[in-house]
Amino acid sequence: MLERVIPLVQQRNARLALPPVPQPLASTGLLSDSRGRPLRDLRISVTDRCNFRCNYCMPKEVFDKDHAYLQHHALLSFEEISRLARLFLAHGVRKIRLTGGEPLLRKNLEKLIAQLAQLRTVDGTAPDITLTTNGSLLARKARALKDAGLNRVTVSLDGLDDAVFRRMNDVDFPVAQVLAGIEAAHAAGLSGIKVNMVVKRGTNDQQIVPMARHFRGSGVTLRFIEFMDVGATNGWRMDEVLPSAELLTRLQAELPLVPLAPSAPGETAARWGWANSAGVHDSALGEIGLISSVTQAFCGDCNRARLSTEGQLFLCLFAGQGYDLRSLLRGGADDTAIASAIAAIWQGRSDRYSELRSTLAADAGPGLRRVEMSYIGG
Ligand code: SAM
Ligand code: SF4
Ligand code: SF4
Repeated sequence: MLERVIPLVQQRNARLALPPVPQPLASTGLLSDSRGRPLRDLRISVTDRCNFRCNYCMPKEVFDKDHAYLQHHALLSFEEISRLARLFLAHGVRKIRLTGGEPLLRKNLEKLIAQLAQLRTVDGTAPDITLTTNGSLLARKARALKDAGLNRVTVSLDGLDDAVFRRMNDVDFPVAQVLAGIEAAHAAGLSGIKVNMVVKRGTNDQQIVPMARHFRGSGVTLRFIEFMDVGATNGWRMDEVLPSAELLTRLQAELPLVPLAPSAPGETAARWGWANSAGVHDSALGEIGLISSVTQAFCGDCNRARLSTEGQLFLCLFAGQGYDLRSLLRGGADDTAIASAIAAIWQGRSDRYSELRSTLAADAGPGLRRVEMSYIGG
């Protein structure tokens, strides 16, 4: 038991040294990394806890009652998160995604959203604030979230068959309650609702077509995500990955789809539109997204930074360590010093794990062990 828990905590505690900043670096909104990639998207994990135990993310055997979750004082406060978000926006961030763990488990999350909604991008516009949730508490909270200023929501749902879904969330949670959460999000006026389905070959791939039929024409965009080798505990195996190309072939055998142009640079999902009988995209039927993180790396224009629950900045979903911004916040650093540190960190970024995946050892030892997705957020 101890052997399984300690490495996760040790890994979390490992930090990268903050780069030296000999003189202040201005926030121009034009920051780019060593590969010329701008900083546009900030994902903030607001809790490392979750009420689900999806086996691809927080397997029950590892995240059991003995698992050491973060103590409340270790978490960034809403004020600390808002302050960092403001500094990130000044560097060019336009979109803020709240995630976790299960973000709706963080008490009064709507208060954080209200604070973030007051901030402005370098263009003077409000940031696009989104949330990724397992949907379990959404029916109860959708209205308050919308009223606080949430723009969009993404709900994770891995199948429509109750038995399959209950097995995958591993806490016996029913599909109907997640669907009720999606309905409530609609009713509250949240737009651009997306549903994320992680596909594992042999586990829920028989749910692909029923999910597609269910959400086609519903106003919800269904996105299929390849099962990823995130973290170090989910027992990832390549033979359980269903490549998006194969998934597309399976869907097209049932229903016509046509490729759509990306709507924004750095977009994670390839877009496909439902077509009418003439083979033309029918906007009333909507679209799907294919997130091919394993089979088609999209590091080339990756513009995402991740802030962990306790304020570490991660430059890649597959990074082993982050930069400790909380020590700056709590050590009394002023805005210029923190903004300069963020700039120096991003300027030094060269991460492109998915492009290099096949050439890297799956587990290169404890020093390079990857941090869990429930800790840095998806
Ligand atoms: N608890 C929330 C949820 O499930 O939506 C937010 C956090 S969760 C880590 C964010 C997203 O990551 C979810 O859509 C989830 O399905 C996805 N995810 C988690 N582990 C994954 C894996 N091994 N491969 C692909 N996607 C994964
Ligand atoms: Fe929880 Fe989301 Fe991870 Fe599932 S994917 S265990 S819901 S954090
Ligand atoms: Fe971005 Fe890292 Fe994913 Fe590549 S592997 S797309 S750099 S998060």
